[in-house]
Amino acid sequence: MTGDGRIIINTGDGKGKTTAALGLAFRALGHGRRVCVIQFIKGQGEYGERRFAESQAGLDWFICGKGFVFKKERIEEDRSVARAGFELARQKIASDAYDLIILDELTYLPQFGFLDVADIIEVISQKPPRLTIVITGRNAPPELVAIADTVTDMQSVKHAFASGIKAQKGIEF
Ligand code: ATP
Ligand code: MG
Repeated sequence: MTGDGRIIINTGDGKGKTTAALGLAFRALGHGRRVCVIQFIKGQGEYGERRFAESQAGLDWFICGKGFVFKKERIEEDRSVARAGFELARQKIASDAYDLIILDELTYLPQFGFLDVADIIEVISQKPPRLTIVITGRNAPPELVAIADTVTDMQSVKHAFASGIKAQKGIEF
């Protein structure tokens, strides 16, 4: 990550997109690198990873969402929270203060019409050379896949959720 930062995308329907990104954060922090996580869509909540993040020097964490449940009457608020989050991402990317920036669940912004893919491409294509950016979320737009260096499609072979096991503390959040 010295002058050769990458664009990495974790997409697909299977479990592991966000947790793989956080694994990379863990790795980078171990080398004394500076990491920023910006979480789109996901709202406030008792996520174990956020608790852990609070105790980590070198790791900045921002929550820019109100939850995955979209209500018609709240959609404009969801849109403006998402767009404000993207403006924050733009600033953090341009700041050159980080080696790794994770834009968690970013793919949903163009999918829900909150943002144009072209805006994302414009911002990430101007990233400082050392910075690696990780984008997570299902259905990564092909235009983003095209400019990325590393793209992993998490394939769901099976998920416990389908057999009625609800999201588990320490595993899903
Ligand atoms: P994780 O955060 O566990 O790495 P993810 O980022 O790949 O998951 P998201 O689409 O962001 O997956 O998932 C949000 C929540 O749904 C997480 O709690 C995740 O564990 C769960 N999940 C992921 N894949 C599936 C699936 N195929 N079926 C049901 N639930 C899933
Ligand atoms: Mg995720």
